[in-house]
Amino acid sequence: MRRDCRSHCVDLRTDAPMPQIHVLPDLLVNKIAAGEVIERPASVVKELIENSLDAGAKRIEVTIEQGGRKLIRVADDGGGMDVDDLALAVQPHATSKITREEDLFGIRTMGFRGEALPSIGAVSQLRIVSRQPSSDAAHEIRVTADRIELVTAASGPVGTTVEIRELFFNVPARQKFLRTPQTEMGHITEQLARIALVYPQIEFRLTHNGRPVHQLRPAGSVRERIADFFGKEMSDSLLEVARDERGLKIHGYVGRPSDSRSSARWQYFFLNGRYIRDRFVGHAVREAYRGLMEAHRYPVVFLALELPPDSVDVNVHPTKIEVRWRDSNMLYSQILSVIRDRFLNTDLTPGLMAVRSPQIADPTGEFSGELLDAGDTATTGTDSEAERRHREIRDSIADFFKRNPRPASPGFGEPPAIRSEYGAASPIAAYQPVGTVDPGGMVESTEPPGLLPPGPPSRLGEGEPDRIDLGTVLQVHRSYLVAETADGLVIIDQHALHERILFEQLSQEITRGPLESQRLLLPDMIDVAPDQVAVIEAHADTLAKLGFEMTPYGPSTIAVHAVPSILRPERVTAFVRDMLDRLAVRSGPATGEILINDLLSMMACKAAVKAGDPLDPAEIRSLLSKRHHVERSTNCPHGRPTSLRFTLRDLERQFKRV
Ligand code: ADP
Ligand code: MG
Repeated sequence: MRRDCRSHCVDLRTDAPMPQIHVLPDLLVNKIAAGEVIERPASVVKELIENSLDAGAKRIEVTIEQGGRKLIRVADDGGGMDVDDLALAVQPHATSKITREEDLFGIRTMGFRGEALPSIGAVSQLRIVSRQPSSDAAHEIRVTADRIELVTAASGPVGTTVEIRELFFNVPARQKFLRTPQTEMGHITEQLARIALVYPQIEFRLTHNGRPVHQLRPAGSVRERIADFFGKEMSDSLLEVARDERGLKIHGYVGRPSDSRSSARWQYFFLNGRYIRDRFVGHAVREAYRGLMEAHRYPVVFLALELPPDSVDVNVHPTKIEVRWRDSNMLYSQILSVIRDRFLNTDLTPGLMAVRSPQIADPTGEFSGELLDAGDTATTGTDSEAERRHREIRDSIADFFKRNPRPASPGFGEPPAIRSEYGAASPIAAYQPVGTVDPGGMVESTEPPGLLPPGPPSRLGEGEPDRIDLGTVLQVHRSYLVAETADGLVIIDQHALHERILFEQLSQEITRGPLESQRLLLPDMIDVAPDQVAVIEAHADTLAKLGFEMTPYGPSTIAVHAVPSILRPERVTAFVRDMLDRLAVRSGPATGEILINDLLSMMACKAAVKAGDPLDPAEIRSLLSKRHHVERSTNCPHGRPTSLRFTLRDLERQFKRV
């Protein structure tokens, strides 16, 4: 093939005579079609499940081996095919779903191009066994590249089983781009989710290498399906929305604004039972959350839309994922208002349930019983077997610490180690530059000599922080620190400064080796998207550098065994979710350093005190004493300033004294 192509292409660029036009052989046509529709095992699974649904199946079983490289099998209990249909099904443009041109505008089925089976057959070894309810025997057909083996009688239940082996055996380029079985399995699960979420009445089973991955019972609810794929915690927290107006039916589940994510991958939109991606719908959703969520955050949203088929065109894209609307304004305003109305009727104050606190292994024995109990109540709402076990273990640990109270801290009139309500050292005190020992949490020990007490008024070099008289510092609105300097005053954004300091320290520490890591007493289970489980393998090195240890735990759960010490326990889950979202989009080589920087800045942001966090005098002093770490830089990693200065002269001018 390549030789033909080269000779023609070259001809076009030279003065050689024009090539002859010829009709491409079927196999090549099918291979080209496969290139469009069949990108990876997950695309095969999608096409086959859609065919099963079109055939009226009530039960669909998907069996995968080696991420689909070795085997993809989809078995259904649908209407099946007779001998003649079987032979036709594998021919290009053979479909039972459209007979007239008008049908194109009233499509109710998933497929209609008659492309899937011949495309798949062109790039694999395909075998189909099918039996119609009225027939007492099944028939079988085998296809390999352009060879079709005749239909023979076979045994089999009513319905159709399609089996694909050796996918892409004759397309080395595609084969090379297949990822690990785990990654391909993630994509397959994602495809299954995109279908199973809108077909809760259908039973689905997914098996990988002989192990069941999903068993979705029939007649389940959409909420149940969301729980199956994304965890009960998320599912329980969603708000239901429903409306049927102006020909548009909307039904869905939307996340509370407080449960935002760092990517839009948690937004699932469906039109007439089919997963779609659409910017109008996306915009309408974004608008509904405007003002309720920080910029660059995304809500969790599952929305199923139903419209009469003639008011949309889904034929735009070969995989039918994009849509053209007849009345996009109506769509926009209906989606916006259904979500907004729901918020109006809901108390959106974030509840305690949102906070899950993993338990930190604490070799110093500084966990107090009360703290463990407090962590406990946050999770009593949900009650899985695993959680109950975790609770029992935690209770017994709490008991132990109650019976063996920790020794009194060495105090010098200061509070002992500054500890947050979750039992970890306060975010500011928690992070000490490597090599500094600070047993009592006495912040003064890290202060550079000469910075305190304030010396005689003198100007520091341009860009260096002013000397601050620590006796004058005032926290206002739990967000800003106002302090007197030698020649005026400075207003410091506590979050921005802390974030910047942590970022600098982390950047330095990581040049010396992996970040300091803390092992969790019990792994923290975090629900993630199915395809994100593979991300932790793909980025194992990066994660290890950051001080994380995680392993896959089930199809959409990961177990976190160790976390960077700098992260506050209650922020681990949120950080891991954001990090995985980030890692999932950043794949490919040559991004190593940028990626690490990105993640360090995310980590600094998550670990830093926030606006609204009250700080006590020792914490304020500690924070300010580390300003010099942020050499010459008065901006936080996101580029915002950390402090504003006003000289006495500025003030005098403002007050019109001069
Ligand atoms: P399309 O779905 O676009 O019609 P396909 O290549 O996917 O094209 O399938 C071709 C035809 O094979 C379908 O129109 C249908 O008649 C038949 N077919 C495929 N899969 C099944 C199945 N699981 N059960 C019954 N018939 C099927
Ligand atoms: Mg089809």
